[in-house]
Amino acid sequence: MSARILYGKEFAAQIKESARIEIEKLKNKFHVTPGLAVIIVGENPASQVYVRNKHKSCEELGINSVVVEMAETSTKEELLAKIDELNADKNIHGILVQLPLPDAIKNHSDEILNRIDPLKDVDGFHPMNVGKLVTGSPALVPCTPAGCVEMLNLAGIEIDGKRAVIIGRSNIVGKPMLHLLMAKNATVTVCHSHTKKLAEVTREADILVAAMGKPQFVKADMIKPGAVVIDVGINRIAPKKLVGDVDFDAAAEVASAITPVPGGVGLLTVAMLMKNVVTAVKLQIGV
Ligand code: NDP
Repeated sequence: MSARILYGKEFAAQIKESARIEIEKLKNKFHVTPGLAVIIVGENPASQVYVRNKHKSCEELGINSVVVEMAETSTKEELLAKIDELNADKNIHGILVQLPLPDAIKNHSDEILNRIDPLKDVDGFHPMNVGKLVTGSPALVPCTPAGCVEMLNLAGIEIDGKRAVIIGRSNIVGKPMLHLLMAKNATVTVCHSHTKKLAEVTREADILVAAMGKPQFVKADMIKPGAVVIDVGINRIAPKKLVGDVDFDAAAEVASAITPVPGGVGLLTVAMLMKNVVTAVKLQIGV
């Protein structure tokens, strides 16, 4: 069997196009230009690339993008003060703090992220937004898992009634993915580093999501023939070589559909951020 390759570009373009239309409507009908502020602390090269990509997408879609660059030596208090300022700024509808934070303030990540006004929390990490997702009234949802589910919808892949297995239980990917898939009526199992007989569990999956950060860990014999495989992992194995958590070539022989790395889920994350900015504006102006 040779799987259908789910290229992120195609789905990201569709998500961005619908965001662009919504943005135009917000401008014309409500005279609001959506604004996104991205705070980057220090000079992590990977973070700089991610922030540049977000800024570029904003410009393409007509979102006013502000990149706040703060020194590596910034204190927690300075960062909190900046967030307070952006929370109060009526022209800024979305705020995100690019992770990871520098080592000196990394331990305060939760306190820093929780300072963002929940209505402006376009990463969907605030406990208020997590609670809304868990209780079935999602508002702002983490971009990567939301992008994966949106891609399944756009690709016409049925979720209702399917067995889904997620490898990884992080707050950013695994846990929100559980709630999103459950809300779509999948029966979901979440695996982690203490899961026994992992391959036996993953072989039950009609939809298998790998979000563990372990290069090419998921082999073909861990996949049920005909399963849909979503590879969230991004692992750099050489200066210019990125791979996912799935052994792509072998897995593509077994799966019915699979996302590549790079060129898969990563592109959806930025597209969903644009969608979240639109959602944040609507929540704030009450439309
Ligand atoms: P974390 O490191 O926070 O979580 C990894 C999870 O995988 C943990 O729950 C861990 O279990 C589990 N895990 C690790 N090893 C095993 C194992 N051998 N068997 C079973 N489970 C295991 O990672 P993230 O969720 O933040 O990210 C996961 C991957 O996705 C990374 O490669 C990251 O770069 C990528 N990513 C990609 C994004 C994109 O835009 N495409 C966005 C975000 C992340 P335990 O909890 O027990 O430790």
